[in-house]
Amino acid sequence: MAKVAIHPAVDNGVHIHAHAGFKGGTLLCKCKTDPVEVTVDSDYLFNHLCGCTQCWKPEGAAFSMLAAVPREKVKVTKNGQKLKIVDETKLLHRYACKDCGVHMYGVIEKADHVFHPFAFIHPERSRDEGYAAPTFAAFVSSAIEGGVPPTDMAWLRARLKELGIEPYDCYSPELMDIVASHAAKAKGTLAA
Ligand SMILES: [Zn+2]
Ligand SMILES: [Zn+2]
Repeated sequence: MAKVAIHPAVDNGVHIHAHAGFKGGTLLCKCKTDPVEVTVDSDYLFNHLCGCTQCWKPEGAAFSMLAAVPREKVKVTKNGQKLKIVDETKLLHRYACKDCGVHMYGVIEKADHVFHPFAFIHPERSRDEGYAAPTFAAFVSSAIEGGVPPTDMAWLRARLKELGIEPYDCYSPELMDIVASHAAKAKGTLAA
């Protein structure tokens, strides 16, 4: 019996199957009429779950599902007038639909930030399938701030592992190394 609704894309087992050569697709918000449409001209990279309290989640889910794509590969193709930045004081500017609340993409405007070249998207809003399943969960302990009882965390971590989604309390080691390499290059410890 599930103690925590993790995310609808994984709660009943992971039924996301990568297709070789997936080249991106169209993201839609939840509006029945005039949905915001965002076209992504890239595979969805680093697909993962995020337990932080800032990322958009489907109703009742403890985690969001999030991937990175090169920011110049993201174009708002319909109803962009409905987008607004959720919180301009946050490092990541999350562009959400004013009517249904779905976050369509997020970008970091700070030019020297390690994630500046990327836009973050929610793959489950993709009309097109073929992207890879999430391979890790970031900021798992933050799910407590989102309302998961601390006593359910052992179950949650075990369930994520069972699903093939490695739980981490920050980013995955691969992403942490990218972040640290960026910092080391900025300091000159590592050749740029
Ligand atoms: Zn909408
Ligand atoms: Zn998050």
